[in-house]
Amino acid sequence: MRCPFCQAQDTRVIDSRLASDGDQVRRRRECVNCGERFTTYESAELVLPRLVKSDGSREPFDEQKLRTGMLRALEKRPVATEAVEAAINRIKKRLQGSAEREVPARQLGEWVMDELRELDQVAYVRFASVYRSFQDVSAFREVIEGLESKPGTAGSEPSTD
Ligand SMILES: [Zn+2]
Repeated sequence: MRCPFCQAQDTRVIDSRLASDGDQVRRRRECVNCGERFTTYESAELVLPRLVKSDGSREPFDEQKLRTGMLRALEKRPVATEAVEAAINRIKKRLQGSAEREVPARQLGEWVMDELRELDQVAYVRFASVYRSFQDVSAFREVIEGLESKPGTAGSEPSTD
């Protein structure tokens, strides 16, 4: 940490404590060069990548929008709120873990479908039908066949030989 008074790079921490309910660390520092003291605040920065839509426009990730979309698909389905929140957290982790500044919105949609498929198959089909907007029957069939070939139902994997 550079000293804001003399620009020296050698400063030492003389006190360190949690601030704002533990979300921040407040550090009191002293410059080794000029002896001036100053305070820094350190907090974790969770930057989620922006979404690239199919028309090329960009928009920030909106957790509330994601939750609304998932809850709409899960309407009147027997799925616990905690399970939905856990799914949302996994999706956010995947976004963070992508280490990219931009992620295709399509990719986010696929992750949501991965989660819904585990949570509730009716919700999954609902979401997929809106999301992929089923312009033809084969797209719908693809989703339904995707359900049938879920791991655990052996023998339905297409053979390539
Ligand atoms: Zn200094």
